[in-house]
Amino acid sequence: MKRIKISDLTNSEEFGSEVLVMGWVRTVRDSKNVAFIAMNDGSCLRNAQIVADMTVIDAEIIDKINSGASLRVVGKLVESMGKGQKNEVQAISIEVLGEANPDHYPMQPKRHSLEFLRENAHLRFRTNLFGAINRVRHNMIFAVHRFFNDRGFYNVHTPIITASDAEGAGEMFHVTAFDMKNPPKTKDGDIDWSKDFFGHETNLTVSGQLEGELAAMALSQIYTFGPTFRAENSNTSRHLAEFWMIEPEVAFADNHDNMNLAEDMLKYLVDYALKNCAEDLEFLEQRLLNEEKEKPQNERSEMTLREKLRFVLDNDFERITYTEAIDILKNSPAQKKKKFVYPIQDWGTDLQSEHERYLVEKHFKKPVILTDYPKEIKAFYMKQNPDGKTVAAMDVLFPQIGEIIGGSQREENYDKLMTRMKEMNIPAESMWWYLDTRRFGSAVHAGFGLGFERLMLFVTGMTNIRDVIPFPRTPKNAAF
Ligand code: ATP
Ligand code: MN
Repeated sequence: MKRIKISDLTNSEEFGSEVLVMGWVRTVRDSKNVAFIAMNDGSCLRNAQIVADMTVIDAEIIDKINSGASLRVVGKLVESMGKGQKNEVQAISIEVLGEANPDHYPMQPKRHSLEFLRENAHLRFRTNLFGAINRVRHNMIFAVHRFFNDRGFYNVHTPIITASDAEGAGEMFHVTAFDMKNPPKTKDGDIDWSKDFFGHETNLTVSGQLEGELAAMALSQIYTFGPTFRAENSNTSRHLAEFWMIEPEVAFADNHDNMNLAEDMLKYLVDYALKNCAEDLEFLEQRLLNEEKEKPQNERSEMTLREKLRFVLDNDFERITYTEAIDILKNSPAQKKKKFVYPIQDWGTDLQSEHERYLVEKHFKKPVILTDYPKEIKAFYMKQNPDGKTVAAMDVLFPQIGEIIGGSQREENYDKLMTRMKEMNIPAESMWWYLDTRRFGSAVHAGFGLGFERLMLFVTGMTNIRDVIPFPRTPKNAAF
């Protein structure tokens, strides 16, 4: 007999037919002579309802059916009299594939705190919450590829190990094959990297952009979707040391095209989630509503999760320059009432996430794209504007999150790029391959980076980035 997935089973109306179901026990409820088993196999949020009649199934077997055990059930599909499900399976035979001793199994059939679940990340997949999050995550990964494929973009795998340190000075993880207790030394007593595996100092990448640009200068439209690593010691709810980034790069496109692509992509992904993850989103929404009930009235959100998602779809993102944003923030009630932890100083300072969120949540009440930042606070490769002070950058800011996308048009002019690299002490010699694209067939081009887990925060309504990636890597934590 072929196994039926619970997503199909729970919709089936083939009453009287025999089915084979496998999965893990969520809960067991004993009543007089029957045990009601809620069983889940991850194919959807819904559980199969298994009815084990003690005149049919041995008491010895029923004894072993505890939360967490894995089962193989053969039974008859019958219409359910109970509320909440269409059908149930009257067990003919049950095999306990793997027991879960209730004295030791950590996942009790009750609400666990998110902290507890993080400490049990190996088992948290088995909760409704993490089942929902991980199914949404898969759908978003798939939608990213579909979005770009439908628009004629090519997916490019950029390297994870890189010898370039142009981008993430100080924030990179070293990669070495040396025995670090006894690495070869130069005459001066420094570590001799020329003797290391790659003959050079190497790191884990902080971004696939530079290599992505090389590909875009031939394939026109590319995107990367890979892991990125940052050794920044920011223990926030929005930063991971290992996260996944989507980085499109487009030739013959300027910063306006870039903004349009970013807005289209985010809307496409949100729309895809609403259409394809309805059941899981409803669950996540309900979870938020339950959480809200514990908050004071004035702190409760005005919109439900799905209303927030629809709101993003239905509204154009506000597009303003950094300079305009500084003016708004300087004159804001929050600044005047000293509500910002970092009050806005002068033009030229970087914005903190409290400022980004103020613009989005309080001022415009919709997503905002900030453009034309001071060149001093942005990377060397960004297109220099004619004013000599700003660059054609664009950051997309979202409610609750702040920056979700960072991008720019790139400097395609060789001389201007070189001048900027010198000013910023970027080692041009080791970047010869990057500079070559500006020497041979250079063209206007632009791109951006979307932090995949920040997107996941928005779509699921979760508030801690550690909960939207299966195994988070953060300072002092690389368990599992
Ligand atoms: P932030 O100011 O929030 O630290 P950033 O300016 O360092 O972000 P970029 O270098 O522009 O970010 O990276 C592009 C995108 O990658 C960001 O817009 C964000 O969505 C995501 N991102 C950056 N750093 C992290 C991180 N440590 N963990 C998860 N996502 C990140
Ligand atoms: Mn950062």
